Amino acid sequence: MNSDQTFVIVGASLAGAKAAETLRAEGFAGRLVLVGAEEQRPYERPPLSKEYLRGEAGLDSVYVHPEGFYAEQEIELRLGTTAERLDTSNRELTLDDGARLRYDRLLLATGAEPRRLSVPGAELDGVLYLRSLRDSDVLRERLDAGGAVVVVGAGWIGSEVAASARQRGLDVTVVDPAAVPLERVLGLEVGAVYRDIHAGHGVRMLLGTGVEAFEGDAAVERVRTGDGRVLECDFVVAGVGARPRTGLAAQAGLAVDDGVLVDEHLQTSMPGVFAAGDVALARHPLYGQPVRVEHWDNALHQGPVAARSMLGLPAVYDRVPYFFSDQYDVGMEYAGFAREWDRVVFRGDPAGREFIAFWLAGDRIVAGMNVNVWDVSDAIQRLIRERVAVDDRRLADLDVPLHDVALVERGSPA
Ligand SMILES: Cc1cc2nc3c(=O)[nH]c(=O)nc-3n(C[C@H](O)[C@H](O)[C@H](O)COP(=O)(O)OP(=O)(O)OC[C@H]3O[C@@H](n4cnc5c(N)ncnc54)[C@H](O)[C@@H]3O)c2cc1C
Repeated sequence: MNSDQTFVIVGASLAGAKAAETLRAEGFAGRLVLVGAEEQRPYERPPLSKEYLRGEAGLDSVYVHPEGFYAEQEIELRLGTTAERLDTSNRELTLDDGARLRYDRLLLATGAEPRRLSVPGAELDGVLYLRSLRDSDVLRERLDAGGAVVVVGAGWIGSEVAASARQRGLDVTVVDPAAVPLERVLGLEVGAVYRDIHAGHGVRMLLGTGVEAFEGDAAVERVRTGDGRVLECDFVVAGVGARPRTGLAAQAGLAVDDGVLVDEHLQTSMPGVFAAGDVALARHPLYGQPVRVEHWDNALHQGPVAARSMLGLPAVYDRVPYFFSDQYDVGMEYAGFAREWDRVVFRGDPAGREFIAFWLAGDRIVAGMNVNVWDVSDAIQRLIRERVAVDDRRLADLDVPLHDVALVERGSPA
């Protein structure tokens, strides 16, 4: 099948690696090139802020595929190589080593990169970011050395790093202008649960204030906050969000907004060019609008959908957005895509750290998060996907099964 064709994937991480795997599994017999800027073969990032960072899991546990996989599958891995220019009229990709690759189909799986702080002192040594295996190794050495860390940003990465640093015994301060951690996604009520979890583990939570400056001679020694505090520290980790790596796509004239715009088949505005993973702003059939998320599950499943679309097979990406996080002994899964809601319903006791939170707009669930409660995410995703009209009291009642929470007067329970 297509044995005289060349398919090129830019970005050798989760989305790119899963796309390559799927292309071969679906019988693509042509030349397949996977270009990656990093030196390592594709690996998973979630352990980098959790067990790998804490030294509880080794390098072997992070890779997407075993070492021999790419050679066995005749996937040309070009690591340590950056794609610099995309010429869609000639279907040619230029790499930083000067090589030019002609392609029949191209997948952009270039992911996202950390936003950088621009306050005075941001360039000082010891102001760290976390995205790559190398970043995690650098941070792991800092955790080994101990001391005091200021974590700037109480989003997912910042919260997980704060938890890991605390678990390794460091003195941890978190600074964020928001009122509670994870406020943008979880809102005040559920964010407060995470604030209390961190505070309960001895993290100093400085919320409602930002960083004004970092100070130190060569390396950072102090953080000055907007509310006038001076925090002495040995290093800083900034987790202030990420932005999609759209440079290559924009330079090639593809439609780009907050991500590379693709349809539900993950096809970009340019024939023959596809995008998947953190970089893709994909029209989502469930929401009727473009959605871009930075979730492991999204990269895992968009890669294969893009691969099938590249082969001309019918494929649509319509999964309910899903992610997970582990902080201390609190594990959670979140499903949905909620930017607005009018109330939160709890099932179980948030103080007991075993509960499900539902975000509702009218009588529909727009998102649900199970915390230390397992094997319920499929049921939650079904309620969201099928837009089941629910009854708040039934939803909150632990004795009513999740498949039975529909509003009774709107028809018989699901
Ligand atoms: C520390 C950390 C912890 C996380 N934890 C969780 C979690 O607990 N749960 C969860 O759901 N999600 C988590 N995520 C998010 C998840 O890891 C990402 O959604 C996922 O990695 C996205 O995969 P991707 O393949 O789309 O992009 P990326 O993983 O960003 O990979 C893109 C790759 O493309 C390469 N690249 C970019 N441009 C070029 C170019 N021009 N030429 C060649 N190569 C290029 C990059 O170097 C990179 O290797 C975490 C992320 C991080 C950083």
